[in-house]
Amino acid sequence: MSGFPGISGLFLNEGLLIRQSSKGVYGIGIPDCGLKDSELKKTPADYINKKFVRKNAPGLPEVSEPTVVRHFTRLSSWNMCIDSAFYPLGSCTMKYNPKVNELVGSFGNIRDLHPLTPVRFVQPALKIIYDFNLILCCLTGLNEFSFSPQAGAAGEFTGLKVIKRYFDIKGEKRDIILIPDSAHGTNPASSALAGFTPLEIKTGANGYIEAKEVEKYISKNVAAVMITNPNTLGIFEKDIKKISEIMHKNGSLVYMDGANFNAFIGNVRVSEMGIDLIQLNLHKTFSTPHGGGGPGSGAVGVKGFLSDYLPVPYVSFNNGNYDLSEDKQYTIGRIAPFLCNFGVIIKAYAYILSLGNDNISSVSEIAILNANYIKKKLGEILCGADPFKDKLCMHECVFTDKAIEEEGISTLELAKLLIDYGFHPPTVYFPKNIHGAIMIEPTETESVKTLDEFLNAIYKIMFKTKKSAALKSPRKTKVRRVNEVLANKYPVFKY
Ligand SMILES: *Cc1c(COP(=O)(O)O)cnc(C)c1O
Repeated sequence: MSGFPGISGLFLNEGLLIRQSSKGVYGIGIPDCGLKDSELKKTPADYINKKFVRKNAPGLPEVSEPTVVRHFTRLSSWNMCIDSAFYPLGSCTMKYNPKVNELVGSFGNIRDLHPLTPVRFVQPALKIIYDFNLILCCLTGLNEFSFSPQAGAAGEFTGLKVIKRYFDIKGEKRDIILIPDSAHGTNPASSALAGFTPLEIKTGANGYIEAKEVEKYISKNVAAVMITNPNTLGIFEKDIKKISEIMHKNGSLVYMDGANFNAFIGNVRVSEMGIDLIQLNLHKTFSTPHGGGGPGSGAVGVKGFLSDYLPVPYVSFNNGNYDLSEDKQYTIGRIAPFLCNFGVIIKAYAYILSLGNDNISSVSEIAILNANYIKKKLGEILCGADPFKDKLCMHECVFTDKAIEEEGISTLELAKLLIDYGFHPPTVYFPKNIHGAIMIEPTETESVKTLDEFLNAIYKIMFKTKKSAALKSPRKTKVRRVNEVLANKYPVFKY
């Protein structure tokens, strides 16, 4: 058996569930419902409009309960998961979160809440949202959060709609949003969707946007700048205060993509950087794994002068009662069918309360410490591959493929080889402005022991692995190297 964590190759075979079907087999027995024979003889068409009745039975597998449980459990063992291995993908995609958050989210009186329940029966749930708003205001220095957006990108879209409406009401025609070239792809997309024209700003050689560069793009058409801080290179935007001043002097606003809030939570208030609006990805920073695309919550926070533009409904508190209110003068309206994605919010709330005021700042401190540990130690292994060698990073660090290429391994091969060592690959080939990028975000939950094991795996790949193995990796997984391009272009959903 290979060393920890390794993969020793125990995979149970599993075929399609439909092939395991036998007519008449069922999972759970349902007691006799007591209806008369004549009632039972009725067909669905006696109850449902004929046009909705299927011609043929749906062809579902007929299997016993153990067959179903084993089927999905075996399939799940073919995947790496955050509970079995380290994912250097970080909070953006998949970080380990304490199980207590899941536990709180699964309590029956929370899980089974129906969004149409009258407000007088869900006062405690409304209180949680009301209080959570106050906590987020404290952590950011902003004045009000809307929980309507159900993803980070939906939060961006909401924030940009607020900006649009703000200038419409003021009677100013501003249609440009400045966005750095290092921004997450959703930033320009959300801007365009909200009716703006995104304009790209070049990141400086040091990896951050320079105030003097921003100045070149200033005009009366600029509505706002959209900045991710720390940016996608894991670098704190040093000029952010100066940039905010430039924007405000021009009558423009400053939007922050706060998806990376875990890098400074509890240590800096964004209001002090001059931020007017932010979206926080509650599903990344504050629990709830994100891999696979959801569920999410991109809560949008604003300074007081923008409160009246936020979506409705929101939770109000009057005379000892919580209520859902819609009285916002300039509201952009509804952007979700109900108040919020409560299942995500409750886990984020549990995450914050379990850490408390005294410990919340240690999240960002440990996330940064861990990333700098990897940056320093991996920089020694991947000699010459750290483009920002002399600087500290924030929550993530990035390397080029220079050192591995010299050893005859590509970034893709390093990623695949890591799987054979029991680690999920890091983010690769992103950001695009770093050659053959390898981006690592360890997050606050990983121990130094895990990080050392990860570093050791890369060391072995660099200096002890035969180059012929690289081409064939991963070799210890159930499914070997797949043709990703083909899978994307011609997905097969059906057998
Ligand atoms: C993840 C992410 C987003 C988008 O969030 P979704 O919830 O995936 O829509 C936006 N910006 C940054 C920097 C992100 O990391």
